[in-house]
Amino acid sequence: MVVAGNGKVRMARKLVFSSGHRYWSPELSADENQALYGRWASPYSHGHNYSIFVTVEGVVDPKIGMVCNIKKIDDVVKERIISVCDQKSLNDEVPYFKDRAPSLENLMKFIQSELTAPGAMPPEAPMVNFRLEEMPTFYGEMNLTDTWKMNITRIYNFSAGHRLHNDDLSETENLELYGKCFNPAGHGHNYILEVTVEGEPDPKSGMLISLDKLDEIVSSEIIDRYDHKNLNVDVPELAYKITTCEVVAQVVFNILKEKLPVKLARIRLQETPKNIFEVAA
Ligand SMILES: [Zn+2]
Ligand SMILES: [Zn+2]
Repeated sequence: MVVAGNGKVRMARKLVFSSGHRYWSPELSADENQALYGRWASPYSHGHNYSIFVTVEGVVDPKIGMVCNIKKIDDVVKERIISVCDQKSLNDEVPYFKDRAPSLENLMKFIQSELTAPGAMPPEAPMVNFRLEEMPTFYGEMNLTDTWKMNITRIYNFSAGHRLHNDDLSETENLELYGKCFNPAGHGHNYILEVTVEGEPDPKSGMLISLDKLDEIVSSEIIDRYDHKNLNVDVPELAYKITTCEVVAQVVFNILKEKLPVKLARIRLQETPKNIFEVAA
């Protein structure tokens, strides 16, 4: 639970379901399906373990010490989402996807419409945001504050070396400022890069951006150029910069903002599990 800042409390609840789906429109040719759905186009199904994180917000009822009984939230999600989708084929057994691609984006639209329908959530605890994870490397979010605007996030990794130093400072000052990170021979990290884009899904593919395209741009612009490299010397835009995670995050954000055909909402760069930086539009 977190305090929302307006005297209310936010409560997040995780629920899970497993569904099958396929990216294939029978009215299109194989080539057209390939062009629309990219490498995931197939007339055969695959599936995922989905996780929904539903956040509701409300005032703590002094009589029960809760915003609302968690069971009420679970019951709504179970009735409207889990019982409809769990262990089912989204394409063949969920009416919402009769005329829509069963993408993460459209599944989010389905969840949003179900959980914000009048009378769905308990009135004392309306949903304010939710996150839907399709894979450990792919999730989406929608929230009330942004009038349920949609964003999706893809997670990438690269390993790189660096050294923190500022040539304008003395050795003593550098050592004091950067400590062990000033080590002349350098060191390195397994970086985790989360790229979040926002917009409306394409009505045909159901996708905000083809993941093939997103992966291709992020890989060619960042991952392939940074992975197993020394950030201070191998990467031109970082050479002679102070390669703190803050600076790297800003540089990555500016590159991707230019290259992506959709709006870049945020990047999150983790240098170590204790150091995570975020740059938002
Ligand atoms: Zn899938
Ligand atoms: Zn470091």
